[in-house]
Amino acid sequence: MFKKSKHGIQIKTIEQVEQMRAAGLVVARTLELLRSSVEPGLTPLDLDAIAEEAIRGEGAIPSFKGYQGFPATICASVNDEVVHGIPTDRRKLREGDIISIDCGAILDGWHGDSAITVPVGEVDPALTELMRVTEEAMWRGISALTVGGHLSDVGFRVERYVRSQGRYGIPAEYGGHGIGTEMHMDPWVANHGRPGRGPRLETGMCFAVEPMVNLGTDRTKVLADDWTVVTLDGKQSAHFEHSVAVTDDGPLVLTALDGGESRLGGPLAEAGENA
Ligand code: MG
Ligand code: MG
Repeated sequence: MFKKSKHGIQIKTIEQVEQMRAAGLVVARTLELLRSSVEPGLTPLDLDAIAEEAIRGEGAIPSFKGYQGFPATICASVNDEVVHGIPTDRRKLREGDIISIDCGAILDGWHGDSAITVPVGEVDPALTELMRVTEEAMWRGISALTVGGHLSDVGFRVERYVRSQGRYGIPAEYGGHGIGTEMHMDPWVANHGRPGRGPRLETGMCFAVEPMVNLGTDRTKVLADDWTVVTLDGKQSAHFEHSVAVTDDGPLVLTALDGGESRLGGPLAEAGENA
């Protein structure tokens, strides 16, 4: 049995947050390995093999594999694929592509879930900017995960930042989630909306914050494989994700090697309420 908030959100003890951190670090190290592995000529299936070996090598279990029938360790979503791409060897990565790699692991029963989008070689500056905006939006959202705040402040900050940067699409039907003894737990964490709503944030709550941002339309569809989400206009999409614990000392980014210190302790912290 685990403690729950009055809204049914799992509350972790300090010891359990430390266990979540250990699971998160497995994911963080795996994604850093994948980031440095991406290059033209590799296939998403090659990256999947690297990820599975890395996760199992740390004594952890790839959480995506078998999840609702998903066949792989990572989701690999290239260019117009938004999320949930199935890694295959059908197409090699090419210079100019962008690839979102989403990865999850279970260690001692606790889940970590994180995603990065990385360029394959040199990419169009508009794509570099798309990735920058998406990652920064994630950090703005994470900065809202403080005790006493409201869950909807996350989506508010994500959307406000993205809208301030240009005419991007934010697919409204996908978002983040609670995380802990399961990968996907209540509540849903929207990437848009008004602040000051939803559950109050308490120490020991853990959430995955994961904005997706499209270069064009916010409209998407799911391919015939029943997994891969693509943009309706065929333009590129980026995706970043971290698993985060609400603590008395502010957000602890479980899936960042430095716990989020370098991003949250810097300019974002100085921006405070306006982040
Ligand atoms: Mg994920
Ligand atoms: Mg997730």
